[in-house]
Amino acid sequence: MDNANKKECSFCKAKESSYNPLIAASTPGVYICRNCISVIYKTLTGYMKHDKEESDEEEPMLMNTPSPKELKAQLDEYVIGQDEAKRVFSVAVYNHHKRIIKGEEQVSENLRDVELSKSNILLIGPTGSGKTLMAQTLGRFLDIPIAISDATSLTEAGYVGEDVENILTRLLQAANGDVKKAQKGIVFIDEIDKISRLSENRSITRDVSGEGVQQALLKIIEGSLVNIPPKGGRKHPNQDFVQIDTSDILFVCGGAFDGLSDIIKRRLGGNVLGFHGEKKGKSEENALLEFVEPDDLIAYGLIPELIGRLHMITTLAPISKEAMMQILTQPKNALIKQYQKIFEIDGAYLHFEKGAIEAIAELAIARKTGARGLRSIMEEAMIDLMYDLPELEGYEITITKECIAHKEKPFLLKKRKIYKKEPNLRQNKGLAKD
Ligand code: ADP
Repeated sequence: MDNANKKECSFCKAKESSYNPLIAASTPGVYICRNCISVIYKTLTGYMKHDKEESDEEEPMLMNTPSPKELKAQLDEYVIGQDEAKRVFSVAVYNHHKRIIKGEEQVSENLRDVELSKSNILLIGPTGSGKTLMAQTLGRFLDIPIAISDATSLTEAGYVGEDVENILTRLLQAANGDVKKAQKGIVFIDEIDKISRLSENRSITRDVSGEGVQQALLKIIEGSLVNIPPKGGRKHPNQDFVQIDTSDILFVCGGAFDGLSDIIKRRLGGNVLGFHGEKKGKSEENALLEFVEPDDLIAYGLIPELIGRLHMITTLAPISKEAMMQILTQPKNALIKQYQKIFEIDGAYLHFEKGAIEAIAELAIARKTGARGLRSIMEEAMIDLMYDLPELEGYEITITKECIAHKEKPFLLKKRKIYKKEPNLRQNKGLAKD
């Protein structure tokens, strides 16, 4: 069915989909989607919680495990490209759900005692390629608490910096203090490569050998009971602790692993020439990364025990110019759509010529910060217009290539009906043409 004609939720405007079905109200044309029902459920049960004895029942949303295909479809709405990583992530999260629901009754007698081990993930990809975005997107979609941490700030207890346990404090906060929920959450640890023994970023004020933090992380990743200060900060003797069992928490680690491709190349030796031709369209570095093996990561300086706990390893490609252009325009909350919305709220209409979008993508590539750089480039380009925005009501504004590349003024055309009193956030298509 044409996307534009699909029924939508009257609360959040989400289109009907197999995973997010709509329920019709008695008033024609009014619907509510599954996600909104789940938010309402959470809000109401949150209010009722203090009246209720803690119950051992599973939450209904945990019973409804979306399939890997549905999870990937959700990722596709926000994350451009990175197909392989999206598939691996979707399968890992699907298995994580199955583990925590423990649907024993479905399983034949002889398999009931079999323990499902966790499928923690290691995402290898350059900065700004969508590693964190993937974790955030699934966390939001699934109503699983998710904590995002940066390994560079972590230290072994006793050194200057943040204790590893603070990751769990963050998870508990994301679960609104609900320990049972936190114990089934997802922890995303970015920049894991920076705590490798060989990393230049490692600081001697934090961890002399480079292994202390890895050992501390290993302890929580392999599953243990950890006492955490519920409000974070450093542990001290007179503090209350909350105990968290980490056995059911899914850990996702990410890192750029600069220089890893050289290690892989050395290992592959003479075979390098042969495979490069097979992986057309990819840089040699990226093609090499797909051949990563645990031994390469050990050579990079991660301890074998930690690598042994990250069962699924997948790579993300650097963002190409074409992908940058898609990131600017296609995802549900694409930057250009966001700016168009900001302008429409003030009754002005923003249009980007293709050349302008291309120029933004080229600038982002030159900055080498991946798609992360797009926002600051857009902010810089739009700041003057945003300053004048309240006076631009009724104007159609066209951003050209020159506006981005040479900071020229955009093209303004006064022709629009004023929508300010009743903002009408219409489809973006065709705004600049009529
Ligand atoms: P990292 O790989 O360093 O974790 P992030 O996922 O934090 O990078 O990306 C930073 C920002 O760049 C995201 O918030 C998003 O706006 C954009 N971005 C990066 N990669 C993608 C992608 N593949 N698709 C869409 N947006 C992306």
